[in-house]
Amino acid sequence: MNAPSQATEGVDWARVRADFPLLQREVHGKPLLYFDNANTSQKPLPVIAAQDDFYRRRNANVSRAVHALGTEATDAYEAARARLAHFLGARADELVLCSGTTFALNLVAYSWALPRLEAGDVILISRMEHHANIVPWQLVAERTGARIRVAEILADGSLDLDALYRAMTPEVKLLAVTHVSNVLGTVNPVREICREARRRGIVTVVDGSQAAPHLKLDLATIGCDFYAVTGHKMCGPTGTGALWARREHLAAMPPFLGGGEMIKEVSFEGTVFNDPPRKFEAGTPNISGVVGLGAAVDYLESLGMANVKAREAGLLAHATEAMQAIPGLRILGTAADKAAVISFVIEGVHAHDMATLLDLEGVAIRSGQHCAHPLLQWFGVTATLRISLAFYNTHEEIDRFIAALLKARRLLA
Ligand code: PLP
Repeated sequence: MNAPSQATEGVDWARVRADFPLLQREVHGKPLLYFDNANTSQKPLPVIAAQDDFYRRRNANVSRAVHALGTEATDAYEAARARLAHFLGARADELVLCSGTTFALNLVAYSWALPRLEAGDVILISRMEHHANIVPWQLVAERTGARIRVAEILADGSLDLDALYRAMTPEVKLLAVTHVSNVLGTVNPVREICREARRRGIVTVVDGSQAAPHLKLDLATIGCDFYAVTGHKMCGPTGTGALWARREHLAAMPPFLGGGEMIKEVSFEGTVFNDPPRKFEAGTPNISGVVGLGAAVDYLESLGMANVKAREAGLLAHATEAMQAIPGLRILGTAADKAAVISFVIEGVHAHDMATLLDLEGVAIRSGQHCAHPLLQWFGVTATLRISLAFYNTHEEIDRFIAALLKARRLLA
């Protein structure tokens, strides 16, 4: 392997890595090697500082009090919404802030799908969806009599696009598809898919959990109806995220949760709801988390998403080449357009045993079913190991990981 370049368009990746204090720690007496970024990313100092500063200097509830602190907190919260909207290529008033993708997808399920779907309708979902983009649709199907139809994948882990378009029959009212698979890393051509769906009058829901941390997004050009993101995978705090939706949907959808802040006027005779997006933001939100998320998108933008993508592509290529050279190791998901996620199995080795031994070496990787049971069933495996890389990982870490993997395999043999 050639010595990899540490620079991408002038980014000093060693300095970037130093922004992540957790990466300096040890686990079981060994330097931590964190390869579980698709599960959750680590947080850089500006994100930690933004939350700390909020609680030290500006903590108050939002959109309620007229006092100075209340105004400052509201301004900070709304500024973060605007920054996230800019990051996504969206308008701030189309962005519902929420606890993450799971909430966002359930919001679409309960507020858009449940009142509209009926027996005979079909919800089309892909084989590679995370449970968060399967189970809400099953719940809707159960209550409405709609049916779930599955769009299958090809052997390399890419979507079978011909089959997908054939499956877009007139009964299909909604298509739910992930932008990037959390198991395979496959990047789906969501722009083309949404165009085809729209031509057929099908509403599209895109799960952007694994895309927003790694790709330059421009929701205006994707052409979907709904797009969900989760903050904790994009260097932001846990319990943050957003649903982007076309304004016409937000205007037509009933609220999902009722309470304070989502109203204009309440009497015992009835309630006048607030305008979107607040109509969908009942109760006190995760204010400090959202402020931290604003700092996270600023941080990612300061690196440049094109640089992030190029950096991670280099890491993916290095890891893939090294892993392909290991006899008995099989990578699941080899699509041409892939994010830096590698799921794999090793002949004769149980995934959890391997992950446990790797942990003793300070290596944090995921093992199991990755909240994607139907996908693993398709591959005929009960569990996989998964490494998921971020821009702050290094080529040296990949080499250390390979050495730890080979050592653990010798122990398990
Ligand atoms: N969708 C995908 C593709 C994911 O990878 C995840 C998290 O792993 C989710 C949805 C759920 O995200 P959250 O738990 O942050 O709501």
